[in-house]
Order: sequence, then structure tokens, then C-alpha cells
Amino acid sequence: MKNLKLATCNGRPNKRTVIQVGGVRIGEEFVVIAGPCSVESEEQTIGTAIKVKEAGANMLRGGAFKPRTSPYDFQGLGLEGLKILEKARRVTGLPVVTEVTDPRDVTWVCEYADVLQIGTRNMQNYSLLKEVGKVQTPVLLKRGMYSTLKEWLNCAEYILAGGNPNVILCERGIRTFETYNRNTLDLSIVPSIKEISHLPILVDPSHGTGRLSIIEPMSLAAMAAGADGILIEVHCNPCEALCDRDQAMPPHMFEGLMGKLKRLQRTLACLEGDEAIAGGRASLENH
Ligand code: PEP
Ligand code: MN
Repeated sequence: MKNLKLATCNGRPNKRTVIQVGGVRIGEEFVVIAGPCSVESEEQTIGTAIKVKEAGANMLRGGAFKPRTSPYDFQGLGLEGLKILEKARRVTGLPVVTEVTDPRDVTWVCEYADVLQIGTRNMQNYSLLKEVGKVQTPVLLKRGMYSTLKEWLNCAEYILAGGNPNVILCERGIRTFETYNRNTLDLSIVPSIKEISHLPILVDPSHGTGRLSIIEPMSLAAMAAGADGILIEVHCNPCEALCDRDQAMPPHMFEGLMGKLKRLQRTLACLEGDEAIAGGRASLENH
């Protein structure tokens, strides 16, 4: 694709990008990022973090800056939220993924985040993309809810061209005529991205479906489609979640999902008969 010099496989056909975050190698092992939609309190975040760690998650997520549709909804705790995430990382050892929404916040949020998330609403916020391009902290770039593959990769190109090679893509569902679920999770984008780009791609079935009952099957489907990992919203007390309550997964259900992912991973490795994949992807077993 024209002008996608860095985001596509041009000139480096067999080389896939692997991004190291703490002890996790994104792009090499199947990664599970889990945690609440938003950081609401120390008790809620650390309680959830301990549960997801016990179940085998590799990284913790949680929003301190929440880009909400309504200005009257909970907007996040900001700096206080980042400090809670820092404590959760200390307690569990899990690296932290958190969203940044304003270009002016990038430098100082890097002091708290192991991975900066750019949400669907900001995928084409070019000032923000330029700013995260200036740092080396890995960036999890969600697909814009109305964006094509090409538009998405162009946004990744902004970050890469700015000097930050650590871009992780994340499919989180797009708007279609179908309204039964919150979004339409486009899993066909996973092998499509693999065909054209060397960047790791994750799938977020929580926002991609918006409904608890659909998250598990779509997580398994994401693994089968070849995703490098998933991002799941987990809350220690879903009924009280201040944000995205309908998709908040309780810890016991997350534990069940992790068990199924491990079994599916073994099945897929056998199916492919590929020692390298069996070895690399066996990482879920280690937890
Ligand atoms: C989130 O991950 O909490 C979030 C707001 O996601 P998205 O940008 O995909 O809606
Ligand atoms: Mn959310």
C-alpha cells in the first residue's frame, strides 16, 4: 500500500514485530490483558488485579482518563487513578495498560503506564498520534469504530514515522447496520492484518460485543483467527461498575475463559503441527 512504508511488510516480508513489555513478549506469545474499564477506587482496582493475575492474565488494564459519550458520565480519576494503577502493578507485578486522551498528558502518563492506549474515538487524533510517536513507550492503537484497515494502518504509520516502533493494533468492533450487539467485532481483520502488516494485533471482545454472554465465544474465535492476544474487561463487582457494566466480566467467569483458552491453544498447536507455535504459544500454560 502506498505511503505505508513502516506499517506494512514492505521489504521485510517474514519479520514480525515483537514488543517486550516487562516479561511479556507481544507478538510472540498469546497475551491476555484484563482489568476494569475504569479505575474507580484502590479496593476495586487492586481487588480485580489480584483476581486476573491469579487466573493467568499477563497484563492489567484500567482507564484513568475515560472518553465518555455523555459529559455527565464518570470521566475517570485522572492522576489519582494512575497512582492506583501503579500500586496495583507493585502488588501483582502485572504491567499496566492505560488510555491517554490528550497530547499534553503523554509525557507524564508514560511515568505510570507500561503501554499507552489510544482509544477508538482518538484513532485519528493526529496531534495525539504525533505525540506518542515521540516516546518509546509501546502504544496500543485501537481501531476507529468507522475506520477501514487502510485508515487504521495510516494512523499506526504516524506513530512509527514519529520514531516510536512499538505499535500494537487492537480490533474493538466497528459500527455496522447490525445493532443487536454494541458493535460488530470484525475478526476478518486479524488474518488481513497478518497478511499485510508485521505489527502485532490484539482483539477486544468486551467492547467488540458489549455483552457478557458473547465475550467468551468471541475470545476463543479471536485466538483461532490468529490474534496475538485479547483484552477483556473484568470487574470484581460488575453490578457496581461505573462504566461499561453490561460487558464487565466477573473474575470466576474470567477464570473459566482462561481455562478454555489454554485448551484451545493446545488444540490449535496440534492442528498446525508446528513446534514453534506450540512452544511460543504455550505461554498461557506457564501461569
Ligand atoms: C476502553 O478500552 O476502555 C475503551 C474506552 O475502549 P474503546 O476506545 O475501544 O471504546
Ligand atoms: Mn470500557
